[in-house]
Amino acid sequence: MARIETPRRVRGTQDIFGDEQRRFAHVLATFERVRALYCFQRIDIPVFESTAVFARSLGETTDVVSKEMYSFEDRGGDSLTLRPEFTAGIARAYLTEGWQQFAPLKITTSGPVFRYERPQKGRFRQFHQIDAEVIGAAEPAADVELLVLADQLLRELGIAEGVTLQLNTLGDAATREAWRAALVAHFEAHRGELSEDSLTRLEKNPMRILDSKDPKDRPIADSAPDIDAYLTPEARAFFDAVTAGLDAAGVAWERNARLVRGLDYYRHTAFEFVTDRLGAQGTVLAGGRYDGLIGSLGGPETAGVGWAAGVERLAMLLDEPAAAAIDAVVVPMGADAEARATGIVADLRRAGVAVEMAYKGKMKARMAKADALGARFAIILGDDELAKGVAAVKTLGAGTQVEVAFADLAEALR
Ligand code: ATP
Ligand code: MG
Repeated sequence: MARIETPRRVRGTQDIFGDEQRRFAHVLATFERVRALYCFQRIDIPVFESTAVFARSLGETTDVVSKEMYSFEDRGGDSLTLRPEFTAGIARAYLTEGWQQFAPLKITTSGPVFRYERPQKGRFRQFHQIDAEVIGAAEPAADVELLVLADQLLRELGIAEGVTLQLNTLGDAATREAWRAALVAHFEAHRGELSEDSLTRLEKNPMRILDSKDPKDRPIADSAPDIDAYLTPEARAFFDAVTAGLDAAGVAWERNARLVRGLDYYRHTAFEFVTDRLGAQGTVLAGGRYDGLIGSLGGPETAGVGWAAGVERLAMLLDEPAAAAIDAVVVPMGADAEARATGIVADLRRAGVAVEMAYKGKMKARMAKADALGARFAIILGDDELAKGVAAVKTLGAGTQVEVAFADLAEALR
């Protein structure tokens, strides 16, 4: 007989269950609560876009575009890509939906994103991001607000301890050009010592050599000129305003002059929240200002700044979140009680009480289930109780028990 092979989960994807799911949901619920405090509105955008949306906005030379995208031709012959991040799709929506009229637009979103990467701890092929953006605000106040939001999120998740905000500036266009030329001169002088990858970067994207992880590149990257000498007075003032805002809001930060975002349209602020608690996957939240992005998609020049964080990486840092508490477990004994319990459970749930019904096994197994679920009460329905129109309500833990009329149950449990 032919053996049927059980299908496998696709490499790099996850089935999120139990404790893991509770941590995951806690991150999303906390983000939802905090974004409302900062008056950001929630949006939702498609999971796939025309491939050009990402290829043009992320740049053909980035790792994401050149190696990591899930692109495919659909049945109509169009080239589509599963989103590898949110910003490009949001910029596309800003243009196609006429959201310019709402500028400055403060928005958040969350959901699955897809990258073809080598799976390992904290690195998946389908993972989840939370994302916050301010579009149409060129003021440093927008950068500050986003960073304070990120900081409060980490604090409310209880993981701010051990996570550091690293901050840098990439200056304005004039700054970048001058700094880039100085970097190229420096790297050219050390051509022979650079890694293979960095030689390619030198041609296409020299700034990226600065954050190379290759030990061969590190000494050359570390001795490269800092941007500071090239900052225009305007760019210096912008960075000072951001750091002053963070200080005023009580958000700790560290300067990391090696932190770069490789693309030409990045300006001014670049940042990462990093930890050493996750091994090699130490960046939990990252972002920056991308004033040239919407222009590069063919739209009007529009300022923008934003960040994204990996939900799985945040969830991994959480202490054990409490199991979802339920109010009561209904324990019917016998067929009559079971029939009656169906109506009682439905009434309680409609009254806003979280109830489970234990209908498997003997009385002992049913009471054990009530304990295992961490319910506050067991509602015991036997023949005697049914005859009297009452339920025996046992406070689990305390062990005390009282009789409550069916009509008063919801009130008594709340
Ligand atoms: P990394 O250097 O870890 O590859 P990245 O620079 O590619 O990160 P971003 O594009 O800035 O990451 O994405 C923002 C956040 O999304 C990261 O800080 C991280 O928390 C999370 N993230 C990125 N790639 C993955 C992945 N493959 N699996 C899980 N989380 C990820
Ligand atoms: Mg990556």
